[in-house]
Amino acid sequence: MEGLSRRAFVRGVAGGIAALPALNLVDLFAQDAAKSNFLREVDARYYKKFSDKRVQCLVCPLNCILNPDETCFCRTRKNHDGRLMSHAYGNPCILTIDPVEKLPLAHFLPGEQSLSIAVGGCNLRCLYCQNWNESQSKPDDLKNLDLPTGKAVESASKKDLRVLAYTYTEPVAFYEYMRDISIPARAKGMKNVVATALYINPDPLGELCRTTDAFAVALKGFDEKYYEKVLGSSLAPVLKALEIIREQKVWLEIVSLIVPGYNDDLAKNREMIAWIVKNLGTKVPVHFGRFVPSYRMKDLVRTPVTTLESCWKMAQDAGIEHAYIFNVSPHEGNNTRCASCKKEVIQRLGFKTTESHIEKGACGFCKAKIPGVWEWK
Ligand code: SF4
Repeated sequence: MEGLSRRAFVRGVAGGIAALPALNLVDLFAQDAAKSNFLREVDARYYKKFSDKRVQCLVCPLNCILNPDETCFCRTRKNHDGRLMSHAYGNPCILTIDPVEKLPLAHFLPGEQSLSIAVGGCNLRCLYCQNWNESQSKPDDLKNLDLPTGKAVESASKKDLRVLAYTYTEPVAFYEYMRDISIPARAKGMKNVVATALYINPDPLGELCRTTDAFAVALKGFDEKYYEKVLGSSLAPVLKALEIIREQKVWLEIVSLIVPGYNDDLAKNREMIAWIVKNLGTKVPVHFGRFVPSYRMKDLVRTPVTTLESCWKMAQDAGIEHAYIFNVSPHEGNNTRCASCKKEVIQRLGFKTTESHIEKGACGFCKAKIPGVWEWK
């Protein structure tokens, strides 16, 4: 558990992994990435130009149209005299080391540590955001590191980290930076993992799938009104994007944060599970996460464990082979059971694997294959 401070670890294992804010271990990288308010601009990758110097970003379904000098909804892109430029490039506000289980990924190289990278900005407006200070700011307004793409890969290498994670804020908002790190990282035999709300258009997602080894997708509910009112977003494009990941055969896990009084309706969650089974299959791990009061939803209570257990059981009854409870530990819902013999093949405490009986991607007891990425190839 090198990537977690002792305080965070204790908080994690005692009574629930309360919140999951970033642990800013910038000192660890002080020699690699000097602290600064460094600003590097690059041309945005997906956009179109109009003859009157307006531009339209095509990265996410908002498809922002910007007049000259206007900044977009996600706060990372700006129209510079008819060119759409990203300001979220080479200037992470968070650079830290995490276990991959924190994303959450339970079936992807367990125990592996990642270099986690985030740049300010987001194309959602979740009222409960744990990292709102970074996600709801322009990159230019944050204290950032100077970390060009090559240096990011070099920093990971120097720390013997073989996984790059794009997480904490919304990687879609720093798409160009993520892409330009992913390519050299992949060439060096490293893995790229993306934790995202997946509010992204099909073309940029298709390109991202070519260098991504695993997605941890926050499917935050199953109701358009909830997406609109609480997240400032919409559900339909997320469902479409999930199907693209499935078609592209990139490893996928889903996490759904259950917010008391907002998206904890069991009938709605049953609908969501049925959609997953029908469109993504039963082998996609689904994590039900505990809400912790934060940002503009501080007056709510934490999700009762019984609510999470109801969703967890419902998913298993519907045929999901690997359902989990996230943000509550210890709990048997943190562990991995073999879908065939039902024995526990991985036991966890917080983000830490305490016992594993997976051998070459199969159950150590009955030899049935366990879906996931278990070995380096
Ligand atoms: S990624 Fe940002 S700039 Fe592009 S369409 Fe979405 S919100 Fe607008």
